[in-house]
Amino acid sequence: PVGAEAGTEFLNAAAVLQTEHHPAELLKTLHEIEALFHRVRTLHWGPRTLDLDLILHGESEASSPRLVVPHPAMWYRRFVLEPAVEVAPQMVHPILNESVAQLYARLMCRPLRLEICSTHHNEESGLLYEVLSHVRDFGDAIELSPADPESSIATNSFARIIVRQGTKPKTLQPFNRKGREIEVVGESVPDIVSQLEDLRMAMLG
Ligand code: ATP
Ligand code: CA
Ligand code: CA
Repeated sequence: PVGAEAGTEFLNAAAVLQTEHHPAELLKTLHEIEALFHRVRTLHWGPRTLDLDLILHGESEASSPRLVVPHPAMWYRRFVLEPAVEVAPQMVHPILNESVAQLYARLMCRPLRLEICSTHHNEESGLLYEVLSHVRDFGDAIELSPADPESSIATNSFARIIVRQGTKPKTLQPFNRKGREIEVVGESVPDIVSQLEDLRMAMLG
């Protein structure tokens, strides 16, 4: 489980469905099935009996507060790509233009190269420095290096993490960002550091 409040271990699986339903209709059905399993929605990323996420829907793209497709975190979550590659290796991520098999292969590269930067405002460069001094024990699997926010992501980098201090947006899912960018917004340095640790867990499993 990812996140301090996520509870005990659970099983992950992926399924391929053939459907005539639009993404929003399908998501409604997934929520109904969760309810049949007595899922109670309390805290986000909290313990649950069943969690059904829509990862890809053909090559369609959606970005509304209720539905974001492809699922914005699918490309950097080992617990998503590992089961997905078993059932749908050829399905294509329409924004990153890579198949599930390619996304999985990239995620399994070691070391996994991550770039980190803050937004380009001057007052935030100190923030990144402070965050980096608190990120302990990322291990050998990940190579974390500061990047210039003005430059674009290096070709051999797995992802660019953009750190920003502020209030987290109310919507639960971040919109899909262009390229391989992950935005981390937190109110304080410890908050940002704990989100980075969640990210590390998501990538390595
Ligand atoms: P994560 O999505 O990061 O794995 P989660 O599954 O724990 O987190 P939930 O609390 O189950 O998050 O769902 C939060 C909201 O996300 C839902 O109310 C749903 O409307 C919305 N959502 C947006 N896009 C998707 C998607 N592709 N699949 C599932 N839910 C989505
Ligand atoms: Ca989920
Ligand atoms: Ca969910």
